[in-house]
Amino acid sequence: MPEAAPPIATVKLMKKLMADHFLGLDQAAKAGSPKVAWCTSVGPAELLHAMGFDVYFPENHGAMLGATRMASNTIPTANAAGYSPDICSYLTADVGAFLQGVTPLTKAYGIETVPKPDVLVFNTNQCRDVQDWFEWYGRHYKVPVIGVRTQRGVGEVEESMVADVASQIEATVPTLEAVSGNKFDIDRLRETVDLSKQCTVMWKKVLEYGAKTPAQLTFFDHTIIMAPAVVLRGKPEAISFYETLLAELIQRDEQGLAAVPGESFRLYWDGMPVWGRLRMLGDLMNSLHTAIVASTYCNSWIFDAFDAADPFSSMARAYLELFIVRDEAFKEQYILDHVNLYGADGIVFHDAKTCPNNSNNRYAMPQRFLEMHGIPTLVINGDLNDLRCFSDEQAKTNLEAFVEQIEELAA
Ligand code: SF4
Repeated sequence: MPEAAPPIATVKLMKKLMADHFLGLDQAAKAGSPKVAWCTSVGPAELLHAMGFDVYFPENHGAMLGATRMASNTIPTANAAGYSPDICSYLTADVGAFLQGVTPLTKAYGIETVPKPDVLVFNTNQCRDVQDWFEWYGRHYKVPVIGVRTQRGVGEVEESMVADVASQIEATVPTLEAVSGNKFDIDRLRETVDLSKQCTVMWKKVLEYGAKTPAQLTFFDHTIIMAPAVVLRGKPEAISFYETLLAELIQRDEQGLAAVPGESFRLYWDGMPVWGRLRMLGDLMNSLHTAIVASTYCNSWIFDAFDAADPFSSMARAYLELFIVRDEAFKEQYILDHVNLYGADGIVFHDAKTCPNNSNNRYAMPQRFLEMHGIPTLVINGDLNDLRCFSDEQAKTNLEAFVEQIEELAA
């Protein structure tokens, strides 16, 4: 049996990077310079960096609230303020935390509060919740909320769509100039788009270590080491981090280390992580000798289209080509391609109660995978942050039965 893999050493470097990121934002917000822009996870971060902003991603903060399980206490506060338990639990966890005056940044970095925004910039390519979320803070701080309203359910990404989104991104420039006090410089934008492109290329290579047999990394590793690709894309630090990580992965591969000792089965994960139960689920999959080798979620930070030669249009295309923006037929083919690429034996669909946008089981896709492609599927009910919607026992029983089913099919 291959040796169990020791922890990834480069993660220590990431902890330092993330500390520098949040401490830098805290300092900028207190000093009033550089200005702070809040950005949705797939908003135009490259433009914000090019305009000289420090960029903060509230969804990352939402995930921290989930991973630390603080969300369970903060969600009800947002519910009481009128934000439904049925809407995005990143939003409710985050707004509830703000109303309570708490943040996981305090324990992690000694930071008292999230950095005050000077401007909030959204992209509705993923959902409407992000706009409502940002508008709550915009009203609170009385600062501009601007953004891009993107087509959804896209089949082919057409030139007219790219032109529309590119012009919307470009239309944010005058506000960003006024808030930052900096003049827009196309060459600076080309640089940040190029940095994001380099980051995305390396992140893709990292994910491909899940395709090795046995897998060198699993979904549970990906959810940790993806942080620089999410919050530092467009910055050189993200590139040097992934260079170091890839060098370590090459070595680990040569040593034949397995992420899941005795790997017998491989699964694909679709949908959001259950942030507060990653450890439990990771341990469970290890005990079942089953590696979750890839996920739609972690692959979502691969932006093939970035092109420094054509920054606005290529950003628009990259953000339109995103999985979550696409129609059902595209999504089905995408998942099928990735199941094949990563050699997965089955698919786990996470039906996240508060995120219909990232739950792809609701229109019979699992049934189609079984009937049309012969790929076994399992639907797990849960949520990204609201653990009232997740049962450890039920998830455990269902996953154990699913692996048994796969074992029988393989026999
Ligand atoms: S895509 Fe889902 S998890 Fe992400 S912000 Fe929108 S509703 Fe929340």
